[in-house]
Amino acid sequence: MNNLYLKSFIRCKRKAWLDYRGHKSHKIWSPHQSIEIINRYKNFYKLSKGDLYAGTKACKKGSSGVIGLKAKSKVIKNLKAEIKPQLLKKVSGHSKWGDYKYIPVVYKLGHRTTKEHLFDLAFCSIVLESYQKSKVDKGLVVSNYSNQINIEKIDLNLRLRKKVLNTFLNLNEYLKRSIPDITEDRKKCTLCSWQKFCDTEAKNNGYLTDIDGIGSKTALFLQKKGILNIKELADAREIDLGEKLIQFKEQKFKKASKFINQSKAYLSGIPIRIFESENISYLLSNKDSGFFIFDIESNPDERHDFLYGFLEVNNLFKNIEDDFYYPILNLTKNSKKSNQEIIQKLFSKKYWPVLHYGETEKVAILNLARQLDLDVKEIEILKSRFIDLHLIVRGSWILPIRNYSLKTVANWMGFKWKQKNVNGSKALYWWIQYKSTLNDLFLKKIIKYNRDDCLATLQIAKWLIKKHEKIN
Ligand code: SF4
Repeated sequence: MNNLYLKSFIRCKRKAWLDYRGHKSHKIWSPHQSIEIINRYKNFYKLSKGDLYAGTKACKKGSSGVIGLKAKSKVIKNLKAEIKPQLLKKVSGHSKWGDYKYIPVVYKLGHRTTKEHLFDLAFCSIVLESYQKSKVDKGLVVSNYSNQINIEKIDLNLRLRKKVLNTFLNLNEYLKRSIPDITEDRKKCTLCSWQKFCDTEAKNNGYLTDIDGIGSKTALFLQKKGILNIKELADAREIDLGEKLIQFKEQKFKKASKFINQSKAYLSGIPIRIFESENISYLLSNKDSGFFIFDIESNPDERHDFLYGFLEVNNLFKNIEDDFYYPILNLTKNSKKSNQEIIQKLFSKKYWPVLHYGETEKVAILNLARQLDLDVKEIEILKSRFIDLHLIVRGSWILPIRNYSLKTVANWMGFKWKQKNVNGSKALYWWIQYKSTLNDLFLKKIIKYNRDDCLATLQIAKWLIKKHEKIN
C-alpha cells in the first residue's frame, strides 16, 4: 500500500479500489496526468536549482532535490506502507545521511490546496521520519502562476497525522471489500482514467447523475423523494416533480420539465425540440451568406491561446473541400503580429457571421480587439457577428446525451475526429511537448485537431438548420 492509493482514496473510494484491484485494460491514458507530470518535473528542477537526482543514492549524496525515492516503514498497528514522494527537498537538520534532512514536497496545478495535498504530505512525512531517522514538521506545496514558483509551507501537526492514519486504516478495509459505488460527485470523473469504465456502468444502471444538470446534490434529493433512476425520472409527472424541486424556487417547474425531457431523450435516443431560440433566427437569416467558423486552442494555466483556427465557409451546404481552413499560431503570448493577423482575418470578410461553440472564442477575440485599441464602434460590430452554437443547441433542443460539450454533441450528430481519443487536454499536451522539443510534428497534430473542431462546429450548424427547415 502506498501514498498514491491514499491520494486516490481521498478523491474517490472506487478509484483507489480500481487502481489497486481493477483490470488495467479498462484504464485510459489521461493527457491531464501527463501534463501534470511534465509541469511538476520542470518546477521541481527549478526549485532544486538543477541539483535534482533520483533515489536513495541522491539522498546519500545530499542532492538538493530528490525524486523517485521509494521508502517503506510500519505506520500503524501492524500495517506497513510505502511512499513514493513527488519530491524531497533538502533542508538543514540531522538524518542518517549527515547534517541535513529531507522534507516532502507536492505540486499543485490549480490555485486551491486540497485535502489530497495535505494528506499526501502528512503520510509521506510519517514514513520518511522513520526512514531517514529524523523528524519532519513541515511539508511544501509548490505551484506556478505566470512563470513564478509559489511555495506554501504546511504544518504537519499531530491532528493532521491522526486524520491521515485513520484514512489509511479505512483504505485498507475498503480494499478488502467488493468494488465501491460510483462517486455521487460525477465532476470528479472528468479527469479520471477509469471514466469510460464507470460511464458504462452508470449508463447501464440509469444513474441520475447521467442527466445533464443533475449533480450529486440533486440526485440525492431526488432519491430521497423516491426517484431512484433515469427511468423513474422520465416517468414522473411535471407538476408532481416541480412541487418537489423546492430548491429551484420559481424555476422549479421549468427544471422539472427539463429533467423529465432530458431523461426521455436519453432513454429513447430521440432529440426533443423545446424553444425557438432568438439566436437561431440570426443563424437562419444569415445562412446564405458566407461564414467563419472559429475555434481556439489554449493553455489555461498560462492564459495563452496558442492557436486560432478559422474555417472560411462560402456556402454551408457546399462541399467543404471548396472551403478553406486557416490556422494562426500564436507561439508567444501577446504577440502583436499574430493578434493583428487574427483581427485582419476577421475583417477580411466584414459582414460574415462568426460561428463558434461556447463563449471562450468570443471573449478571446474581444480582448484582442481591445488590446489592439480598436474603435468602440468597431468592437461592437465585431461582437454582433458572433453566433454561439452552444447557446442555440441548449436553447432549442434536448439531445439524448450526457452533456453538451462540442465533442459529445458533434459525435452524436455523426462527426468523427480524424485522430483517435483527442480532446482539448490532448492538444494542450501536444503543445507542451512542442515547447520542450520544438518538433513541428506536435504542431501538425494540434492543427489537424483544431481543423476537426472547426468542422465539428460546422456539422452542428448544418444539423440545426436542416432540422429547422424540416420542422417549419
Ligand atoms: S470515473 Fe469517477 S467514479 Fe469512476 S473511479 Fe473515477 S472518479 Fe471514481
